Amino acid sequence: MTQPAEAASAPVAASAKNIVKTYGSGDTVVHALRDVTIDFNAGQFTAIMGPSGSGKSTLMHALAGLDNVTAGQVTIGDVPLAGLSDKEVTRLRRDRIGFVFQSFNLVPTLSAKENITLPLDIAGRELDAEWFDAIVARLGLGDRLTHRPSELSGGQQQRVACARALVGRPDIIFGDEPTGNLDSRSSGEVLAILRAAVDEFGQTVVIVTHDPRAASYADRVVFLADGQLVHELYSPTADDVFAVMRGLGEEH
Ligand code: ADP
Ligand code: MG
Repeated sequence: MTQPAEAASAPVAASAKNIVKTYGSGDTVVHALRDVTIDFNAGQFTAIMGPSGSGKSTLMHALAGLDNVTAGQVTIGDVPLAGLSDKEVTRLRRDRIGFVFQSFNLVPTLSAKENITLPLDIAGRELDAEWFDAIVARLGLGDRLTHRPSELSGGQQQRVACARALVGRPDIIFGDEPTGNLDSRSSGEVLAILRAAVDEFGQTVVIVTHDPRAASYADRVVFLADGQLVHELYSPTADDVFAVMRGLGEEH
């Protein structure tokens, strides 16, 4: 399937150029990424799929500046990460990137509200109260803000994690299997807010998922196998995604 014509000229939110990631050496060498080149257009929702061990998390961590690459170049917006110090990468990540993990990663001793505003507090940035209220309302967390994570369901905890990722208005939100621990209803809620981040807030979203239904929320689905990009789909249905997974021999 070819990319829509308008996509070719859209600004790029993040890109990987010829990136290679190798772990270890000699007998124990692992080629996690073998020469991956990909652009993520601004204002687009992309899902990354592929079998376990195919390099999805490695790619996402490299794109988010959480891990360095063995060769090649990662660019966030128009900033190549290779030219930055560790401190500058940290600042760029803080200012421009939001991250949602499979395991929620909330601080157990803080309330939902404190968890949501933590990145801003750490960065010494002021909270935009109107934006905070809009996110909280959109996520249906208004009556949960004083609760600790242990007093929230898994779906509520992940919505708090989404709010935390959105509150600083990052250009790009990465999610590594953000619905991996959720039932289908909570998954739908989280995917809807990520979809809204793109459609209503103009942000860019990139998630890793194993779920064809989750992938069907995306504008584009890219498939990794053995550290390489092997296929992509635009605006697929869950059935389209499933058919490609079967063709690539992915097991469930
Ligand atoms: P996925 O997210 O698609 O399951 P990963 O990106 O986590 O795959 O891993 C890709 C490959 O790199 C796998 O073979 C994995 O075992 C290996 N790998 C990932 N992280 C490390 C690490 N820190 N040290 C050694 N090997 C690793
Ligand atoms: Mg992974």
